[in-house]
Amino acid sequence: MASASDDSSEAAEAPPNFIHDIIDEEVRDGSRAQGDVCTRFPPEPNGYLHIGHAKSICLNFGTAIKYGGRCNLRFDDTNPTKEKQDFVDAIQRDIRWLGFEWDRLLYASDYYDQLYRWAEQLIEDGKAYVDEGTAEEISKARGDFYKPGVDSPYRDRPPAESLDLFRRMRAGEFPDGKMVLRAKIDMQSGNLNMRDPTLYRILHATHHRTGDDWCIYPMYDFAHGQSDAIEGITHSICTLEFEAHRPLYDWFLEQLALPNRPRQIEFSGLTLSYTVLSKRYLRQLVEQEHVSGWDDPRMPTLAGMRRRGYAPEAIVAFCDRLGVSKREGGMGDVSLFEFLQRERLNASAPRRMAVLRPLRVVITNYPEDESEEFDAIEHPEHPERGTRKVPFSRVLYIERDDFREDAPKKWFRLAPGREVRLRNACLIICKEVIKDDAGEVVELRCEWDPQSRGGTPADGRRVKGTLHWVSAAHAVDAEVRLYDRLFRVENPMDAPEGQDYLANLDPDSLEVLMGCKIEPSLANAVAGATVQFERLGYFCADRDGSPERPVFNRTLTLRDSWAKLERKFASG
Ligand code: ATP
Ligand code: MG
Repeated sequence: MASASDDSSEAAEAPPNFIHDIIDEEVRDGSRAQGDVCTRFPPEPNGYLHIGHAKSICLNFGTAIKYGGRCNLRFDDTNPTKEKQDFVDAIQRDIRWLGFEWDRLLYASDYYDQLYRWAEQLIEDGKAYVDEGTAEEISKARGDFYKPGVDSPYRDRPPAESLDLFRRMRAGEFPDGKMVLRAKIDMQSGNLNMRDPTLYRILHATHHRTGDDWCIYPMYDFAHGQSDAIEGITHSICTLEFEAHRPLYDWFLEQLALPNRPRQIEFSGLTLSYTVLSKRYLRQLVEQEHVSGWDDPRMPTLAGMRRRGYAPEAIVAFCDRLGVSKREGGMGDVSLFEFLQRERLNASAPRRMAVLRPLRVVITNYPEDESEEFDAIEHPEHPERGTRKVPFSRVLYIERDDFREDAPKKWFRLAPGREVRLRNACLIICKEVIKDDAGEVVELRCEWDPQSRGGTPADGRRVKGTLHWVSAAHAVDAEVRLYDRLFRVENPMDAPEGQDYLANLDPDSLEVLMGCKIEPSLANAVAGATVQFERLGYFCADRDGSPERPVFNRTLTLRDSWAKLERKFASG
């Protein structure tokens, strides 16, 4: 993992990107003008975008930006049974959130008429035929890696017969699955995708855009390359699993004699430790209610990350930092992701005080009905952002973990007889510990030093520990949701014998705290607002909250978690 120090020294060196190398070469040898570069991001609107898609978005949009070209958003909507307008909307929202804007907004369904005409053309040219075999028969005859395929009995039917059937398929004369249109390529090909792939299937389903206009739909392979060609895409960037589809992609462009010849280039998709990144699994997590929805803050979806409080700029930085290669197997490190997020959040988030597990503190030498306000800085590295007022009074809350009755020598927080600083306020000494009948500490009686207003004592004595706090009379009650990684192992797909990835879910990835005390200025935080709760971490206001009852999500802890500090104290 990169550290902050090698950050600065290597900042100038761009991570490897073999696709940019290819384009640079094309520009150098004169086969391409920079501004002609045109890419597209082609999501299927059947779910929410995840951070793997962000990688593809950064690459496609980033390439267009780098070369002064264009990038389209094209919905690959050829699967009406799984696709929805809601997903179309969510995808656009998420791309914009990452900070990108498309040149043209397009849909594969824009080309249904053209694709249909091209299919008829292939039939007329003797390069496609209608197959009446069942799905099972067709799949069996296709063979496998070791076994060559067997020609379909329908393969050599006259084009006129196929054309008639294809038109009747389109007219709705046949039920789903009755027949398909296949390309006539090579059943002996070493590449299974070339063994007479399906071009069209019958689907009596309502499409979210074309309604009931169609009851046959093109397959991905028949739609993708042609859509690229229609739009003038120059570089059709996709993940490695499409490498074996490239000959087919090129075959269609060739047979249809299309003037634009986009070039498909495959790269190794993003994987992330402690995370699953496939819509299939993410959908399962949602449907089986392992999470609260697609935007649960533990989900690797962009909607989940937004709700978690992650900064889009740091998501882009993460994707860029990993570089682009064809090499498989390298797993993106979630701690690098978290490092970049912390760096970004630290630089931007205003500081606030909140007490998650409150312990009552009474300042016995502070007058009962009085209060005052201290100035607290908004951000230590941005004095220009100014200060806010933090109310102080006789009864305060501090964090339960910040007090220990039997404290070791190097305990720099509160303990009987010890003195600490209250952040932005003053020094206090613990004089007395009040317990309930069960022996639990319920209140600390302390005294403050009025000469230490602002936090600096008049005599200059050194006080090491500084605690965060809130005034009881002014605090607002909040719910705080502490999120952790959803999975407890680095590779969740690596499940114990006989179990699947669900066995690797961390049952403690969410802890909900009620009755947290937050400073009053936080009550009106709008959903999505990010703050640093001093000494605790980064938090983000959730839409479930209201001014009367705010809800905050923990984005990340500060670098040193309390657990680690505790261990350090324990060891001396
Ligand atoms: P999933 O496997 O999660 O269902 P998908 O590939 O089916 O994803 P699409 O909507 O088809 O989802 O993907 C849109 C684009 O994003 C495609 O070009 C795809 O190659 C790319 N993409 C998907 N997952 C990743 C990933 N993990 N890393 C990089 N690019 C990805
Ligand atoms: Mg896909």
